[in-house]
Amino acid sequence: MQFSNYANRFSANSGTVQLMDDLGSAQRASGPVYMLGGGNPAHIPEAEALFKAEMLKLVEDNNAFGKAIGEYDSPQGNTAFIRALAGLLQQRFGWQVGPEHIAITNGSQSSFGILFNVLAGEFADGSFRKILLPLTPEYVGYSDVGIHEQPIFEGHKPSIEKLDEGFFKYRVDFDGLNIDERYGAVCVSRPTNPTGNVITDGELKELARRCEVAGVPLIIDGAYGVPFPGIVFSQATPVWNENIILCLSLSKLGLPGLRTGIVIANPALIQIIKNANAINSLAPGRLGPALVTAMIEDHSLLSLCNDIVRPYYADKVLRVIDMIKELIPDIPVRIHKPEGALFVWLWFEDLPIHCHALYQRLVAQGVYVIAGHHFYPGLDEDWRHKQECIRVNYAAEESVVRRGLEIIAEQVREIYRTQA
Ligand code: PLP
Repeated sequence: MQFSNYANRFSANSGTVQLMDDLGSAQRASGPVYMLGGGNPAHIPEAEALFKAEMLKLVEDNNAFGKAIGEYDSPQGNTAFIRALAGLLQQRFGWQVGPEHIAITNGSQSSFGILFNVLAGEFADGSFRKILLPLTPEYVGYSDVGIHEQPIFEGHKPSIEKLDEGFFKYRVDFDGLNIDERYGAVCVSRPTNPTGNVITDGELKELARRCEVAGVPLIIDGAYGVPFPGIVFSQATPVWNENIILCLSLSKLGLPGLRTGIVIANPALIQIIKNANAINSLAPGRLGPALVTAMIEDHSLLSLCNDIVRPYYADKVLRVIDMIKELIPDIPVRIHKPEGALFVWLWFEDLPIHCHALYQRLVAQGVYVIAGHHFYPGLDEDWRHKQECIRVNYAAEESVVRRGLEIIAEQVREIYRTQA
């Protein structure tokens, strides 16, 4: 069978495909597996119990259930859900958001597939605009969504602040960060996958200001962020205006199976997303909105974030940091200050081998993490730091995380001992 050039986009060499394939092969592995890769959120019993109760209510309501599974939604997404969300955003944050500012997609990944291609690429004036990522490492899932042969990302190196007690933090390096008409949009994940960094309120304000001046939209990927799921342990004020495109998702609340993404943006862009939904998939899925609309209406979704989801991860990450310090006291590892999301980002300074080789050694022991070099979309320059980090998802059961970290410690110790 022959495929068109379009099929090149779906080449098996794409970083995202390889990472998802790894998850599949881990599931098929015969020995013990310590899954610290992937982006699955934790199974939080209290959160799952609440979702189950909402699901039971839905199932018992014949009319609502029949509609949720038996009828296509509007291509913009479920009207009741959109209205409820607009109301919540107005009341809680005073944002001038109406239903015309919100569209639903089949998960944030789908949102980015639309957004990056409508904001970057070839323009009518002959220009080719890119998406500027002002701080890489950044989410690997962005890498392969561009439909153009030409790369659509330009990634920038951060400045690194070394902190006490073996921590460090990336900061946006504003020197040399010129935001102008070369870019179709600027994009940051906040908190950031893979590092758990939270771009500070000050940094975000400055990015938003520069974007506004240049007339370039700022995309804030809030998959882990505010207002929900709110997996943030530092200060992060929710922000939105008509030049900001805020992307949210139900996934990291514990509902990745429902594939529900949300875009909050100016009405012209929302119309394009609505049309793209109609053309690509007729309508976004209906079950996610049906499940959580009542929780948005009575604001209990925000209580779930504040009282259950955030404390769960905040508590767990502290225990994981303690484990790392206990297990790896003799190795030059620095941990990115854990400010949010589900990951710890470990930097092995002057690691004698490439992090991909470390990753392969870990896979041979049944430990799945993600090698750090994948997380630099659009940053092609040689930078040793790219080879020195790994991402560890700490959402798994604590015993699994502990055993995985023990194996990482053994392997890294061995590498420093024999290859330094
Ligand atoms: N953005 C970030 C930063 C992510 O980590 C993920 C998933 O891991 C996504 C977006 C996509 O999430 P979903 O498509 O499940 O909404």
